[in-house]
Amino acid sequence: MSAPAASATTPIQPAAPYLPLTRPTIDEETIAGVAEVLRSGWITSGPNVKALEAKLSEYCGGRPVRVFNSGTCTMEIALRIAGVGPGHEVITTPLSWVATSNVILEVGAKPVFVDIDPVTRNIDLSRIEAAITPATRAIIPVDLAGLPVDRDRLYAIAKKHNLRVVEDAAQSLGSTWNGKRIGAIGDFVSVSFHPNKNVTTIEGGCLIMNTEAEAKLAEQYRLQGVVRTGFDGMEVELVGGKFNLTDVAARVGLGQLPRLDEFNAKRRELARAYFELFDRPAARSLGLQLPVADFVQTNWHMFQVVLPEGFALKRAEVMAQMHAAGIGTGVHYPAIHLFKIYRKLGWKDGDFPIAEKVCRSILTLPLFPTMTRADAARVVDALTAILTPHVQP
Ligand SMILES: *Cc1c(COP(=O)(O)O)cnc(C)c1O
Repeated sequence: MSAPAASATTPIQPAAPYLPLTRPTIDEETIAGVAEVLRSGWITSGPNVKALEAKLSEYCGGRPVRVFNSGTCTMEIALRIAGVGPGHEVITTPLSWVATSNVILEVGAKPVFVDIDPVTRNIDLSRIEAAITPATRAIIPVDLAGLPVDRDRLYAIAKKHNLRVVEDAAQSLGSTWNGKRIGAIGDFVSVSFHPNKNVTTIEGGCLIMNTEAEAKLAEQYRLQGVVRTGFDGMEVELVGGKFNLTDVAARVGLGQLPRLDEFNAKRRELARAYFELFDRPAARSLGLQLPVADFVQTNWHMFQVVLPEGFALKRAEVMAQMHAAGIGTGVHYPAIHLFKIYRKLGWKDGDFPIAEKVCRSILTLPLFPTMTRADAARVVDALTAILTPHVQP
């Protein structure tokens, strides 16, 4: 073979590809499975929904599970099953996706926010009892970034005050508490299968319940309150919605669920890499607040840092510079009580100072199973370069 002729043009060196904040991993087997469902003639809720519910139930220690078209309606339905409505209060955190408290308003109840623990960034359990009134019916804790809220303390409070719990475990499927899977323990557990979550059905979610009676109610709330019997019997006993998951989406979930633990192991490995990279002197001097270094219980749904207060550089500017360096970042989340509709209901700046401080400065860095350690190094290097000129001596 002769040597290749020298190219007449200078080869273009491709810039490093854009590193997104997150990215779902959908394998070819799943794509083929979806094509099969599409060709089958049955594309909405059917055998794949049933199969996914069975697999999820198996994953959650045999508890009743039903799937829905979001991880939002699951919480709303749990509140309805629990009989929560007008005149009732539900305790939750101001640091979450706004769905968490919107569902409380949706059922006509009043959200009662409790400030967060600055280290875990989850609801501060030590502040819950002071927020309980005779109108309190439930607590919605959130496992932010997959880090589980202390289930022992949570359920001790719930039991003492006779409150229902709707765990917003949208982000924590595959996390554990004392060796038990989230979903395998507790009261209502709500999970999301949004594409950014650790497993996806594109859009979707599931609700894990205690009894078959609750699961039957969930089915009614899921589809217009309808109950069918025999060949021609149909009754409607409550006002339900339109929250069913399609078989196409369920087939995606059936391809994802067997890989959940593998995905989470990869996330854990990358989180470890971040900790090692942030431990280098140049990064340490930035004064970033890192997440809790838990490699046992959390599924590492996200890796979030909190920028120190007093940086001259605004978070949006940090994000813009990261973007210019080819790296996606995100904000999870702005404080819920400071959104317009919540302000109209009476909340204001300063109500939950710890959450507000974290929400102003929190930044989510890329983390997803197909990312590499080299990608993580690129993120830490870029962030270090951007922040170093602004560090207060
Ligand atoms: C994703 C998410 C939800 C809502 O899930 P959807 O499936 O998008 O409706 C609720 N709470 C938290 C904390 C979430 O991260």
